[in-house]
Amino acid sequence: MVVSIIGVGLIGGSMAISLKENGFATKIIGVDASPNNIDKAFRRRLIDEDKSLEDAIAESDIIIISIPVNAMLQVLPKVLDLVTTQVVMDVGSTKFELMNHIKNHPNRKQFVGTHPMAGTEHSGPEAAIPNLFDNKTTVICDAAQSSKEAVEKVENLYNALKMRVIRMDSNAHDIHTAYVSHISHISSFALALTVLEKEKNEKAILDLASSGFSSTVRLAKSSADMWVPVFQQNRDNVLDVLDEHINSLSKFRTYLIKKDFKKIKELIEQSNEIRRILS
Ligand code: NAP
Repeated sequence: MVVSIIGVGLIGGSMAISLKENGFATKIIGVDASPNNIDKAFRRRLIDEDKSLEDAIAESDIIIISIPVNAMLQVLPKVLDLVTTQVVMDVGSTKFELMNHIKNHPNRKQFVGTHPMAGTEHSGPEAAIPNLFDNKTTVICDAAQSSKEAVEKVENLYNALKMRVIRMDSNAHDIHTAYVSHISHISSFALALTVLEKEKNEKAILDLASSGFSSTVRLAKSSADMWVPVFQQNRDNVLDVLDEHINSLSKFRTYLIKKDFKKIKELIEQSNEIRRILS
C-alpha cells in the first residue's frame, strides 16, 4: 500500500514509522509546507520520497492529512478535488467544522474523518516516535457519510497501528474532547503562566519542581500553531467547560479564604473519584 502523509510532524511522522515497521505501507510519500521538515523527515527515514501534492495523490492508495486544523480547511477540499479512487483521512483534533466544510463535496464518500487519541507535547518530525498509538483509542467520525470501503481501509490502517477504533458523530466528538483534552491544555497553559508570573527565580523552579509540577505543566510545552486553531474551532464547547473549571477554582479560593478545610477535604475527595474511572 502506498501511503502519502501531508504534514510529517509528530502525528504524521509517528504514523510513518509504525506503518512502515508493521508492513502496512510499502512506500511512504511525504508532503509538507516546510522544506526543512521534509529534510528532517528524510534524515530520520520517516519518508521514502517527497512529492508535490498532485504527484503524491496520483501515486497513493491512502492519503493521511496531518496538519493543523485550520490549514486542514484549505488542504482537504484540494485533495478531494484531485482523488479518483484513493481514500483520504485526516487526524485532526476537532471534527465538526471540517466535516461541515466538505459535506457537499462530490468525493465526500472517499474521505474518513478520524482523531487518534494519542500524542505528546512535542512537535515536528524530530518528535515522531515508534509505538505512539499502541493500545490507544481512535475515533472515526460520521462514518455513514463515507463509503463502506473507505471506512474499512481506514479501520485496517488503525488496526495495524494497534489502536481500538470507536465511532462517534463529529458534534459529540468535539464536546467530549473539549471535556477531556482541550480543557487540560488550557489548564496547563494557565498554570505555567501563573508560575512564570509569580516565581521570577528560574533556578527555584528548576530546583523545587517536583514530579507533580512537571506532570501538570507538561502540556504547556505544546505548540501554539497546533492548539490555537483547535480552540478557535471548538470555542463554544471549550468555553462551556472552562466556565465549570473556573467555578471549581473559585470554590478552592472561597474555602481557603474562609479557612474551611473540611470543605477543601470534601472537594479533594470528590476529585479522587477520577482514580476509579481511569483505573
Ligand atoms: P506538527 O508536529 O506541528 O506537524 C504538522 C506538520 O504539518 C508540520 O511539519 C507543519 O510544517 C506541516 N504543515 C502545516 N501546514 C501545512 C500545510 N498547509 N501543508 C502541508 N504541511 C503543513 O503537528 P502534530 O502535532 O503532528 O498535529 C498534526 C495534526 O494532528 C493536527 O491536526 C492535530 O490537531 C492532530 N493531533 C495532534 C495530537 C498531538 O498530541 N499533537 C494528537 C492527535 C491529533 P510547519 O512546522 O512548518 O508549520
